[in-house]
Amino acid sequence: MSSAQDILQSVFGYTSFRPPQDQIVDALIAGEDAFVIMPTGGGKSLCYQIPALVREGCAVVISPLIALMQDQVSALQVLGVRAQFLNSTLDADRVLAIEQALSRGELDLLYIAPERFNQAKTLSLLREVKISLFAIDEAHCVSQWGHDFRADYLQLSLLHTLFPEIPRIALTATADARTRREIIERLDLAAARQFIAGFDRPNIRYRIALKQNAKQQFLQFLKQEHARDAGIVYCLSRSKTEDIASWLCGEGFRALPYHAGLDSRTRAANQATFLREEAVIIVATIAFGMGIDKPDVRFVAHLDLPKTIESYYQETGRAGRDSNPADAWMIYGLQDVIKLRQMMAQSAGTEEHKRAEQQRLNAMLGLCEITSCRRQALLNYFDDALDSPCGNCDTCLQPPATWNGTEAAQMALSVAYRTEQRFGVNHLIDVLRGANTDKIFQFNHHQLASYGIGKDFDNNQWRSVFRQLVARGYLSVDFERFGALRLEEKCRPLLRGEVSIELRKDIKLKAAKQQTQVRLAGDIDIALWEALRECRRQFAEEQGVPPYVIFHDSSLQEMCRLLPRDVQEFGLVSGVGERKQQKYGPAFVRVIADHLPVHR
Ligand code: ADP
Ligand code: ZN
Repeated sequence: MSSAQDILQSVFGYTSFRPPQDQIVDALIAGEDAFVIMPTGGGKSLCYQIPALVREGCAVVISPLIALMQDQVSALQVLGVRAQFLNSTLDADRVLAIEQALSRGELDLLYIAPERFNQAKTLSLLREVKISLFAIDEAHCVSQWGHDFRADYLQLSLLHTLFPEIPRIALTATADARTRREIIERLDLAAARQFIAGFDRPNIRYRIALKQNAKQQFLQFLKQEHARDAGIVYCLSRSKTEDIASWLCGEGFRALPYHAGLDSRTRAANQATFLREEAVIIVATIAFGMGIDKPDVRFVAHLDLPKTIESYYQETGRAGRDSNPADAWMIYGLQDVIKLRQMMAQSAGTEEHKRAEQQRLNAMLGLCEITSCRRQALLNYFDDALDSPCGNCDTCLQPPATWNGTEAAQMALSVAYRTEQRFGVNHLIDVLRGANTDKIFQFNHHQLASYGIGKDFDNNQWRSVFRQLVARGYLSVDFERFGALRLEEKCRPLLRGEVSIELRKDIKLKAAKQQTQVRLAGDIDIALWEALRECRRQFAEEQGVPPYVIFHDSSLQEMCRLLPRDVQEFGLVSGVGERKQQKYGPAFVRVIADHLPVHR
């Protein structure tokens, strides 16, 4: 029997555990139960895969997502691990063959969908064989409070009673305390050791910029930083996802829409293309995400503002699961704030529900307008702390300038007041700037004291002032009156000059060209990188698996740095275990040799 460390190296090709993986692995090997909360990309799978190989018998992994199950099992098989899955996609012969292999003790890991696990037949089969451990993946599915409740998960509470001797590990990335308590209670894990890692995703760079010309800004971001990468773009409406996807195709990208209005065949096909092929961009509504475990999503872009920080964090969390640098990029503007506030005002819920929704949106807007570290604010929102600014968000990298906006804010509030709080932002700006529109003369607004007093600012500067006043709750938007801006109680001290206000200076998104080239490529030879990707693609196609099952991007990058000269040196690359060394080494070494100068 090999030790956990040997297996980590020889099978998975990694040199060391990431704490607290080592402690979790030790606990399970010793036969203890464990409850693991770790952020996406933290490395949860190894926590049970390695004990499964160390302990005698077959590990049973309960996993709710069929697509994930298949990918995980392919990835293990490529490593030479005897893994299989049982779910509704298999025909009867295949099921029988797997059940027989299990009975003969020929499996190391068996992934099972929860509904199949609950069948009497499966349970009696499991009672006849040697089981090394039970792993309950996505354990938050047992919680009715959480967002992915699955009734089949409730039966898993029986595990402890039916198999009292066998260690269990439950894993989730879900943060909040209430869900956590429910998992412990329902899965009978009160005596389990708890391992709670922080929620930070240090490899994700958060950036939120002002929306000016959305398409142009996004195109610049893509071309300069992610020209050949896979990514997800979130939009609010179905029609917008289609519009953006076809526009991106016209710009030379491979982009596909995904939303609940597409028929299920198209949706499945688009999702499969995204998973199996490289550099595909999915343009989606929030319907896209659950069950997407693609590790090499290099960016998540929001072209519309999410309604809550929870959604923002969950959606951006789909980037960079392989822990390589990834971008969470968003643009937003006054129009987004107005649109979302309007959607909420018109939604069907109770007044209390609407108030709660508005509060969550306010928190989201606060994150957009903040002038300090975004990561600190995000983690703080989830009751997790980060002691110093992160150095990997836009406000850390390019600290935003602020200016004393007291006088401008007073002008903006006064013009709303003097026009009887009946007009929207465009007209108010016209009055401030002394424009000659029909509407101004129709309402005699050229005779107001506010008329023309704001000539020093251009249209964009005024929009910035109004946006920040709305985002910070000084002004509200009245949808009964076509978006008229109304004063809130909070204005009074500001109007009376008792307090001052600092506003954020809107800056144009600076092209982060140099920074990201360093981040993505380092001194990597792009031609070699592309050749390695091509080599990976061919193997993936041959074996009918996604490219990342063959090697993660990080392994290819390390090949570019180490430039292994033979199969033995190839074994030193992180992510290259013995099986992959033998199977893929010769081909990749040849690609590298072909790219090097002869005299090296
Ligand atoms: P999670 O399930 O927590 O989202 P995964 O188990 O998919 O995360 O792991 C995320 C990535 O980190 C994978 O690419 C995995 O191979 C890699 N990884 C996990 N543990 C280690 C380790 N000890 N050393 C190097 N890479 C690791
Ligand atoms: Zn920061």
